Amino acid sequence: MKKVLSLLTVMIMTAAMLVGCGSDASANTIKFGTNAEFPPFEFVTTNGVIGEFDGIDMAIAKEIGTQIGKEAVIENMEFDSLLIALQNGQIDAAIAGMTITEERKESVDFSNPYYTATQVMIVKKDSTIAKAGDMADKKIVVIQGYTGETCVQDMGYQYEAFKKGTEAILELSNGKCDVVVIDSATAQKYVKDNPDLKIVEDSDAFEAEEYAIAVKKGNTELLNQINASIDKMLADGTISELAAKYTEAE
Ligand code: GLN
Repeated sequence: MKKVLSLLTVMIMTAAMLVGCGSDASANTIKFGTNAEFPPFEFVTTNGVIGEFDGIDMAIAKEIGTQIGKEAVIENMEFDSLLIALQNGQIDAAIAGMTITEERKESVDFSNPYYTATQVMIVKKDSTIAKAGDMADKKIVVIQGYTGETCVQDMGYQYEAFKKGTEAILELSNGKCDVVVIDSATAQKYVKDNPDLKIVEDSDAFEAEEYAIAVKKGNTELLNQINASIDKMLADGTISELAAKYTEAE
């Protein structure tokens, strides 16, 4: 009888501990969704700042976690799925080099912007494309769901959409398309890795874009915490240091 009782006690204590751990873990984490196919903002590596995930955004996410007293965890998914994952509560915030757009603002709330970028064209070194208008009769590739796709769409050009930036770049290197339209910092990274390619800018055709963190609509408590953290990192130079570190790194 005594044995059974002590066994029961142990079982109850273990169960209580497990339940305790479970709720503590979720209370002490902030889950960021990303699409780790967007260097230098997010990519997969052997030893990243958060597990296998590294990049400017990943370092920012980690720091936000530290500042609000929670452990930042990353959920890697398709870029297209991020807004839905926010809406259904699968993630707390999306950090993915995501440009603030009117359309996205209809389904999520955005933090203060933390980085300014623009769309650029990546072409072969010997390409004659010198401005956006030169793409008219060329074979254009964009990444599905990125703002680059919207830009090319609005210009009224035909294009092909790929799932990953790396696939688009391969297509270009192999001579199967003439131009890839993608965000500036990511383009710089790809061109650095592919010496046969160059960047063509056209600031008349492509407007400046602001990256921000998205949260579920109405989640003001988290948004305020994220904004306070971003403002601090912008003011004390953390974000510009991170940008410099990850754009210069090999
Ligand atoms: N800035 C682009 C967008 O918001 C691309 C972002 C990304 O691929 N991570 O669509």
